[in-house]
Amino acid sequence: MKRNLKYVLSAVFLLCLVYACRKDERILETRLPEDVAEMAEWYGRQLLPNENPQAFANMNKPDWNGTVVKKKGDSTLYTTLILTDAKSTRELQVTYYDGSYTGLVRQYDFAREDSTAVGTFTINGRMLDIGYFDGKNRYVLKAVTNKRNIVLMGTEMGGELPEVVVTRPWPGTPGTGTIIGTPTLPTFPPIIGGGTYPGTPEPTPIEIIFKCGGDNKQFVDLVTKALNELKSGIMSNYTVSPCFMAAFFKNLQQKQNGNPLNICLKESPTGANGTYSNNTVGFIAGDYVSNEVFFHELIHYYQNISGLYPNFSSMGGNSKGFANIEFETQLMTDLVEGIGDGYLNQLDRTLFTTAEFDVLDESYRNWFKKFYDSNGNFKGAEVFNETGVMDGYYNYLKIYATKSKYYKSEIFDTLKPLALINMLSTAGINCK
Ligand SMILES: [Zn+2]
Repeated sequence: MKRNLKYVLSAVFLLCLVYACRKDERILETRLPEDVAEMAEWYGRQLLPNENPQAFANMNKPDWNGTVVKKKGDSTLYTTLILTDAKSTRELQVTYYDGSYTGLVRQYDFAREDSTAVGTFTINGRMLDIGYFDGKNRYVLKAVTNKRNIVLMGTEMGGELPEVVVTRPWPGTPGTGTIIGTPTLPTFPPIIGGGTYPGTPEPTPIEIIFKCGGDNKQFVDLVTKALNELKSGIMSNYTVSPCFMAAFFKNLQQKQNGNPLNICLKESPTGANGTYSNNTVGFIAGDYVSNEVFFHELIHYYQNISGLYPNFSSMGGNSKGFANIEFETQLMTDLVEGIGDGYLNQLDRTLFTTAEFDVLDESYRNWFKKFYDSNGNFKGAEVFNETGVMDGYYNYLKIYATKSKYYKSEIFDTLKPLALINMLSTAGINCK
């Protein structure tokens, strides 16, 4: 606790310091209003018409007066604050180089004291990659989305935007003088505080009740915080599809029909980090609640209360159907993260030769891509009617049931992933 406090205090101090410098810098460096105006005009031309006020770009309100302009070599980097709230800060980063503009949006999510998640998006909000700064301010790239297009040049509204496939945005292109590379930490101070929980509990996206451990305020706060973060797509170190997550919780809340989920702090010091059975999620450690573990258990809760698996209660603990339930959970987690590493990491490598695993790795990743359209959005449940999707599902399920580290079991070999199908049928999972 003491160490945390010290860390928070020094972080606050540092941010104040950074802010103070920035304030001066902004005054000194923003001497080119005509440049900023031209860049702002360019930005305006990039916006695709969308009437939904919640659409990514529609939420952004650029503060052009505060634009920080930096020149490096032949290129100019404009950084403009476009959104800030208690959870995140968004900056528009536009580079002007060799007569044309390139723009990206960086979204910084202050998920935890010791890390800042960074999502990189196109101006209209398609995610390009996710990464995070760790406690030592080192940037780690977590995942790059399947297809990476960056809009390089402006076109008039409604026109076709040129599609440019770039190989890898990191770690920048040496020698060209372009600045785009490792994101800089936000140049605008995040809103700090507001995190002290008053006596009345914070509202949560689904109904919960503390059955055991409810007298442990630290635990209650952690669970509440994790639920609210998950609803916004915030995992411990990175951000996943917020619209998918919001739809997930909306579905879950409807399925609850007023019956709260029980939350327990389990006494046992050993075993899994999280458990689910019979309307109850249990956590083992009271001083840390992992968002990832929580999401995993909430998928089980979804599978259970949806009524889609009438035998759900007998499918636990390596009984028949256990691998069905766990594979679907892993797949759903991988899908929101946009990478297939979760499944592959769950396999017991000692049961494969290197060559076998390489083949599987490639085929799984190729199959996995079928769930997204060319814009990187989730396809609807009809994806399961496409050639090879259902066959692939059963194939990778069988491998999971026989060669995963923890989830081996006899399977129902024709049981469809009904919860995932149900989820992919939900309106709004792609923010549309
Ligand atoms: Zn599980």
